Amino acid sequence: MTTRCNLLEESVADKFIRYVQVDTVSSELTDTTPSTPGQWDLAKMLEGELNQMGLSDVHVDEHCFVLGRLPATPGVNAPPIGFLAHLDTVPGIPGEGVKPVLHRAYSGGRIEVGNGVVLDPADTPAILKAVGSDIITSDGSTLLGADDKAGIASIMRALAMLINDSSLPRPDVWVAFTPDEEIGAGVLKFPYDRFGAKLAYTFDGGALGELSDETFNALNGVVTVKGRSAHPGTARGKMVNALHVAGEVLASVPSGWRPETTDGREGFIHPTEIDGNVEEVRIKLIVRDFVKGQLEARRQALEHALAAIEERYPGSSVRFSGEMGYSNMKAELDKDPRVVAFALKAMEMAGITPHMHPIRGGTDGARMTFRGVLTPNLFTGGGDAHSRQEWACVQWMEKGAETAVNLARLWAGESS
Ligand SMILES: [Zn+2]
Repeated sequence: MTTRCNLLEESVADKFIRYVQVDTVSSELTDTTPSTPGQWDLAKMLEGELNQMGLSDVHVDEHCFVLGRLPATPGVNAPPIGFLAHLDTVPGIPGEGVKPVLHRAYSGGRIEVGNGVVLDPADTPAILKAVGSDIITSDGSTLLGADDKAGIASIMRALAMLINDSSLPRPDVWVAFTPDEEIGAGVLKFPYDRFGAKLAYTFDGGALGELSDETFNALNGVVTVKGRSAHPGTARGKMVNALHVAGEVLASVPSGWRPETTDGREGFIHPTEIDGNVEEVRIKLIVRDFVKGQLEARRQALEHALAAIEERYPGSSVRFSGEMGYSNMKAELDKDPRVVAFALKAMEMAGITPHMHPIRGGTDGARMTFRGVLTPNLFTGGGDAHSRQEWACVQWMEKGAETAVNLARLWAGESS
């Protein structure tokens, strides 16, 4: 049993090792929130720890959102801030029975994770920045779950540091641990009415110093190809085979506009699913770009290509219909430049060189940003998420905690 004293004094590594041993793999196959019962186990554990540490308003709601509040230090009347991390780990890779292994003082070479799994710096150059630090991996039979238990551990450590040192000023600090991030479903049920902060930070990034204030703009759509069926024996001049037309649609996506040929700030068009027959084929595809105008340009290029294909196949119909999914959060975040500026400052105060890292996807924080809680994303100190090579660096998680403490100190000096 962890005592209050333990919780306040133990290292971030001790916390992390406890959390990763709880199986919280989420599932796309259920339609409940949380999607799996294991997430309750970690939620209850964290609820107990927050209560023992003396936080206020500690509560787990019916959808497994764990909330708590560390009250402001006396005399501080600054805007409340929030720290968030997600409870679940990704489906598809074993996440039950995680046996964390501590590799002390990383030498810069290959790490034999176990069970034939090797962590090779040639594939993961980010880990070379952790030479001399301590690395935690699984034993190779499962993922580790640093995504996002490294974030949870850093936040819990930061709370302990703030409680232990009453000379550190802070505003109200809200924490939220959320279910089902990996299946993109959890945050839809976020309890905005009970969460007292309008600005927050998700701890769900990667290597030391990472800060993300940008996500893709997302357009999700379907190309519907209609052909004309006829008996193949007498089809000459009559049949229009939608399958052949669909083949041309796929070929029309420029090879340099695909996820497999782009990175950094480049967008793409990506077919994800196809089904159909001679009469009709449906191709699901997604379009992504950091810049709204370029997203629109990609849509127009696609529609031009489809019109040209339609013309080459008289009797066919080739149409795209799409709708916007999530949007780049940057424009929203820019409404209060302190949110990102303080994150950069907080890292610098911890001796970290920050680097901006646009996210080639969406985040829970982006969704929250559009609901009025400005929420950029910070590093956790882990790498190779969603794989058996996944790792976390102990000293980087400590820096994550330090960054959170610095954020509290910086915001304490602001007025509401
Ligand atoms: Zn994550």
